[in-house]
Parts: sequence; structure tokens; C-alpha cells
Amino acid sequence: MSKIDHLGIAVRSIAEALKFFRDTLGLPLKGEEIVPDQRVRVAMLPLGDARIELLEATDEQSPIARFIARRGEGLHHVCIAVEDIEATLDRLKAAGVRLVDEVPRCGAGGHKIAFLHPSSTHGVLIELVEEHSSSSD
Ligand code: ZN
Repeated sequence: MSKIDHLGIAVRSIAEALKFFRDTLGLPLKGEEIVPDQRVRVAMLPLGDARIELLEATDEQSPIARFIARRGEGLHHVCIAVEDIEATLDRLKAAGVRLVDEVPRCGAGGHKIAFLHPSSTHGVLIELVEEHSSSSD
């Protein structure tokens, strides 16, 4: 566990949310991409060593669409950077932590990511990302 990588915020519309996060709050918009695996469009706004990620559903089956339908817009997950994601998942699994992803998958930027189930994390959806696992930056 080395640092907070990003905070994921579920929004109905990135275009609408940028009016606050970029235009009013003043965060720079570093890029947008679609992550088909998670059915989301992602906008990245760096903030110190970390970044805010705005998440907009690309269809009704998206976890983000279901989240917003249940709870409205808001903080969706906290992402923690780790050095070795497989080793971290093995350790957490051995400790009895419920994993959403037993095997890492491909997230924004081509990074290896995995989610821990909120039932094991005191209600916070935690994403792990392996540092330096991207081939694209
Ligand atoms: Zn994330």
C-alpha cells in the first residue's frame, strides 16, 4: 500500500460534472477514455499525487448506472496503489477478505486493477491498482 491513486466519483454526466470539478473547482482535465470492461466513460482530473476520476455509465448494465439508481451520484470507490497486485490479492484472500476480482483485470490506462468487496471493507468499495503496470504511460 503506497498511496491513494484516485477517488472514483459516480456522475450522471461527465459534461455536467466538469462544470463543477474543472470550471468551478479549477482541477485540470487530463483525459477521458472509455473502459469497455466496466461500461464506463472516465474523466481524469489530477489532484496532487492522486486524481479524481469521474465515472459515467455507458449503458444501463453498467455498475455505475446501478450505483446511481440506488444511491444517486457520489463517491463510488477509493483506489489504492500497490506494488504487486497478485501478491496483495493472495494475502487479502488468505486473510478472509471478500474479493470482487480474484484475478486482476484491465482498468483505465491499461493498468492492472482489482476490486475488494465492500462487505469486507467497512462499506467502502476499494480498488487496487498495480503501480507501473501500464504499457501506455
Ligand atoms: Zn477507479
